[in-house]
Amino acid sequence: MPLENTKQSAAEALRQTRTFGKVRCHNPSCMGRIQPEPGARLVKCPTCGMEYRLYWVSPTLPRIRGPVWDVNREIAEKTFAEKQAVTKPTAGKMKGK
Ligand SMILES: [Zn+2]
Repeated sequence: MPLENTKQSAAEALRQTRTFGKVRCHNPSCMGRIQPEPGARLVKCPTCGMEYRLYWVSPTLPRIRGPVWDVNREIAEKTFAEKQAVTKPTAGKMKGK
């Protein structure tokens, strides 16, 4: 691991040492760890790009309230379109709930 810790601001360092509230991405194919800004109402998963609405149990404990549908639908449609371009859909039904 490179020694870049000295470049971090005090706030960032503090946030790391205290392991500020993290949430797990709700995207089943991602499950990445997301570390939202304290008090943020929205958070974007750095791994898959999904956005979630946050609810703060305490000032340091975030919970995902739900997805941001506009953004996630866009991503889902893009993924779906990409998949369709590769494989022809045989099932007529939309997948998932
Ligand atoms: Zn994700």
